[in-house]
Amino acid sequence: MSETADIVVIGGGVIGSSVVYHLAKLLDPSARIVLCERGPVAGATSGACMGHLMVTPDTAQDYALTKTSVELWARMNEEVGGFDYNPTGALYLAETDEDQEMFAVLHKQFADNGDRADVLDNKQLREIEPGLAADVPGALYYPGDGVVLPMLACGAMLRGARKLNPNVVVRPHCAVTGFEREGDRVVGVVTEHGVIATDTVINACGVWAPDLSERLGEKRLPIYPRAGNLAITGHHVSPIRTQLLEISYLRFAHAASEIDPTSVDSDKGGHAVNMQPQRNGGCLIGSTRQFCGMDKEINRELLQRSLLRAERYAPGVAAAPIVRTWVGLRPYSIDNHPLIGPWDPVDGFYIAAGHEGLGISMAPITGLLIAQQIAGVETEIDVTPYLPSRFVA
Ligand SMILES: Cc1cc2nc3c(=O)[nH]c(=O)nc-3n(C[C@H](O)[C@H](O)[C@H](O)COP(=O)(O)OP(=O)(O)OC[C@H]3O[C@@H](n4cnc5c(N)ncnc54)[C@H](O)[C@@H]3O)c2cc1C
Repeated sequence: MSETADIVVIGGGVIGSSVVYHLAKLLDPSARIVLCERGPVAGATSGACMGHLMVTPDTAQDYALTKTSVELWARMNEEVGGFDYNPTGALYLAETDEDQEMFAVLHKQFADNGDRADVLDNKQLREIEPGLAADVPGALYYPGDGVVLPMLACGAMLRGARKLNPNVVVRPHCAVTGFEREGDRVVGVVTEHGVIATDTVINACGVWAPDLSERLGEKRLPIYPRAGNLAITGHHVSPIRTQLLEISYLRFAHAASEIDPTSVDSDKGGHAVNMQPQRNGGCLIGSTRQFCGMDKEINRELLQRSLLRAERYAPGVAAAPIVRTWVGLRPYSIDNHPLIGPWDPVDGFYIAAGHEGLGISMAPITGLLIAQQIAGVETEIDVTPYLPSRFVA
């Protein structure tokens, strides 16, 4: 095979799929866009995760990124649909006094961004979620979050892209093995089936993005796998209706890690419960965090701790059989922010990776920002904090 493409996107997870969709929306339909995925579409992290669409208000910058993206999910649901979009809102649950103090902090963060969240007492909470334990003291309800089924979303975005642009080519089982360069420019992508001549490439390879950059002859990107154990119940009626998470999840998950991601033996892992009702009636339960390299063995002890927390909040979960457990690898970037934009040392080479535990939430804005940068138009939000150039030294 020897062919040419205007753009080659590498990686058929949620990020690569969104990049293809937004390129198809923004560029002229004559543009030939080829997606190379070495396995099946959504066969890696994006098929082994939860689908919480989460707005994070910690800083104005995080809020702009996640809020815009979650709104784009709602728009994509209108445009393409077919991925179990469910705008449930999110309930942040408290157990301890310390947890409850965080309600005020989170409430203020949303308010500072001009948004709204409501602090609920025990009675108000149980009106919304009658399946919760009677002694859960309260919750903070944020109406702007939602849930999707990510593996369906990848396929839906790619189908949507092909409707907009018949020159979109999706090539599963096509591993990229290297690149062709002329000096500081990329001029081709070498795949196991042949070379694709192109001057624009997007590396959307999640935890493998550093490997691809090395194959380009560049230094490894500072992205490390951070494992998460998940369990799902059978198609019994879920005891919950809303996306639920312990408020302590925010401390645990969204701060930059205090653990060195390269010293995999020292991380004993941690957990904070996150529960998602599924359209089919099941309940998806997560999630743990641990740096243990590319190891995808279930950590039974950590997972068990998550399940016990889930039962503590929603006792009905205990009656539903767990039908599947698995591990996914989050692409954690060393400063806990994704890399979205050109890799300056090589003309035409872009990176869209490193979204850790928010890649589903951030997929639409990531795809849009990459497409806008390639098209040379003004970006939806300020992309400066996410430019990969912060790691060019
Ligand atoms: C347990 C868990 C729970 C999570 N829950 C949530 C959540 O509720 N909400 C949220 O927003 N996010 C969540 N996330 C995070 C989210 O899943 C990830 O951030 C996101 O899936 C990353 O997508 P990606 O496209 O970058 O990576 P991937 O889905 O891994 O896609 C990268 C693709 O690149 C391909 N690839 C690699 N090398 C090559 C090559 N040489 N040639 C061709 N293709 C290649 C791989 O096969 C893979 O398919 C969770 C993650 C985990 C693990």
